[in-house]
Amino acid sequence: MKNFTTKQQIRQHLQPLRKDGATIGFVPTMGALHQGHLSLIARAKQECDMVVCSIFVNPTQFNDPKDLEKYPRPIEADIQKLEQAGCDVLFNPDVNEIYAGNEQWHLDIGELERLLEGAFRPGHYQGVTQVVFKLFDIVEPDKAFFGQKDFQQVMVINCMIELLKLPVTLVMCPIERESDGLAMSSRNVHLTVDDRRHALILSRTLQQVKDGINTTDIATLKQQAEAAISSEPGVELDYFELVDGNTLHAANQNTAYVVALVAAKVGNTRLIDNMIVR
Ligand code: AMP
Repeated sequence: MKNFTTKQQIRQHLQPLRKDGATIGFVPTMGALHQGHLSLIARAKQECDMVVCSIFVNPTQFNDPKDLEKYPRPIEADIQKLEQAGCDVLFNPDVNEIYAGNEQWHLDIGELERLLEGAFRPGHYQGVTQVVFKLFDIVEPDKAFFGQKDFQQVMVINCMIELLKLPVTLVMCPIERESDGLAMSSRNVHLTVDDRRHALILSRTLQQVKDGINTTDIATLKQQAEAAISSEPGVELDYFELVDGNTLHAANQNTAYVVALVAAKVGNTRLIDNMIVR
């Protein structure tokens, strides 16, 4: 695997390959790689000739400085995992390589900015679009692979691709879970043994909602889910919503595409999870 830290190096490497007709699949990450990330690499390998993965802990998408500071950065282990997964190119730049000081950025993504995660993490999606735009510009991928784990993020990136008419196809990949249901996340390393047990209420509740979607009305499902999560020790619910997966507006009995999304603090760690329930 080639490992580049500058825009110039990676562009120089990819340009002739692209000219020769190779298609490029891109998997942007913040590192601390787990099976969820590796499933995106595997999918990209299936669909493209070359796979580029970026590892960049993007400061502009963190609204909590402590979260940024304690974000795990096990680069050596990450490199090994990428080698084993058959990734072709790693792009692992410094912050200074990506940002030239205090840059201005604003993309009008409409209400996606204010709904759900947007409401709890002001500015987060501006930081996400800012960095993904830059990374797309550097890598010029044919396809970009993102996880359903960050469902709203996929919608935001889709919105940016349409708004700016970017020549890239977005592929949403399913959520990888631990055997007990916990959605894999780089932040799971922060969970204590007790947190880890309590965190299971999130995936368990999502599954219960999925099981009940055709027999129980949506308002009742939401109430039951909120009650179950709020009564779990050590868990502080931010939101549990059943929404139309095309708009993020509240779902009703007639909504064809229903996604349940949850965010909660478990101990000191904020986790998100979701499930397509219809
Ligand atoms: P991150 O490093 O957290 O920014 O995630 C990089 C990419 O991996 C994003 O597209 C995430 O949605 C995706 N991802 C994170 N966790 C999972 C998971 N458990 N299953 C599948 N994809 C994931």
